[in-house]
Amino acid sequence: MSYCVNCGVELDSSLDHCPLCNTPVINPNELKRIADAVPPFPEQRGEVDTVKRRDFTLLIGIILTATSASCLLLNLLVFTGSLWSLFIIGACLLLFIVLLPAITTLHLPMYLSLALDGAGIAFYLYLISFTTADQHWFFALAVPIVGLCTILCEIFAILMKHFRVSYLTTTLYFFVETALLCMGLELLIEHFFTKPMRLTWSAIVLTVCAVISITLLTILSRQRLREAVRRRLHF
Ligand SMILES: [Zn+2]
Repeated sequence: MSYCVNCGVELDSSLDHCPLCNTPVINPNELKRIADAVPPFPEQRGEVDTVKRRDFTLLIGIILTATSASCLLLNLLVFTGSLWSLFIIGACLLLFIVLLPAITTLHLPMYLSLALDGAGIAFYLYLISFTTADQHWFFALAVPIVGLCTILCEIFAILMKHFRVSYLTTTLYFFVETALLCMGLELLIEHFFTKPMRLTWSAIVLTVCAVISITLLTILSRQRLREAVRRRLHF
């Protein structure tokens, strides 16, 4: 028979809390029995070794090379109608370049890996240009657009690395870069189609981005305003 240490009420042996005052019921004999019992789970955790990056790189490389080679052979020997295998070879190469920072043991600087991604995309488009009747679009439109996107990504990476980063600054960079991208795209497309170079649809994007950017700059430059926004948006 046991009694509550707090209120003295008589307790049933199955209770773990006093029904009257909610004091926990602790039986020292029970504690010892639990401590002595063999735990139901193993003491050592069996962990699977992580895959070595070199093995993973090799595996990915072999899969992509095998895919490219088999498609090339199919293209040359069976389905010879068009150069369709260039699409797949280019995609495999691009995938490898994009995955390179994740799979390789080499720690590529971010700028270099972004530049490689841009070059990979340009090379993919170059391969695609062989399947079209005219390659003029590649040099006159694709290369400048890929170059513009790569440069903007590099600038974004530099800003994120060297300046104070918060949600507000990241949003500011994003809108400024979006405005620049849209303006650049419109001008490049007009230049390609030999139209007069002037802003139309990108002017609307530019206006919206300018309003948002000015708002963000005002918030960022006033500490009280910045703190108020930060508290309200919980970051
Ligand atoms: Zn009690």
